[in-house]
Amino acid sequence: MKNNPQFIYLIPLGDVGDKHLEIIAESIQEQFDLPVKIAANQGLPVYALDADREQYNSNLILRKLIDNAAPDALKVLGVTTSDLFNPIFSFVFGEAQFKGKCAVISSHRLRGNPENETKIGCPPLISRLEKEAIHELGHTFGLRHCVDPDCVMKYSVGLECADRKFSYFCTACRELMLWHLSTDLFLKA
Ligand SMILES: [Zn+2]
Ligand SMILES: [Zn+2]
Repeated sequence: MKNNPQFIYLIPLGDVGDKHLEIIAESIQEQFDLPVKIAANQGLPVYALDADREQYNSNLILRKLIDNAAPDALKVLGVTTSDLFNPIFSFVFGEAQFKGKCAVISSHRLRGNPENETKIGCPPLISRLEKEAIHELGHTFGLRHCVDPDCVMKYSVGLECADRKFSYFCTACRELMLWHLSTDLFLKA
């Protein structure tokens, strides 16, 4: 059927560079072995902005992504450069619906100290974004945090942890992801 949910949608929310989107899309396609569509910019919902904190509520952004998901979207990942928070954490790199459809990530806190950006050996922002994208999408496939420090599903307390891990799943997480993926595709076919 034409509208079978089979695509991962990448949705820019505000001013996200095309180059970054393309690299994230390629990484996701490789890790999940699913076709990726880069959608038109949807912008951030004004009502998600907490003016006092100068941050956006990631719960409300997720809600909007869920409401606007295309019929052929198996998963939806919103990408923003704005700072995110939720009712539990004062800031988040990203947030996902566990075993759900949608996730959102932000590059804001992944930039770290701007002085470090120019230092030799400092991992570029894009590699952190790739990991965060795969990590949050992993949650939508039912993956929990992993104890393997190399695994992309390892919970990153800070940027050091994020830089330590790889941008792919350990064997156990990969198998679990593929199992959830086949169940997802089967149920929605
Ligand atoms: Zn996580
Ligand atoms: Zn793992």
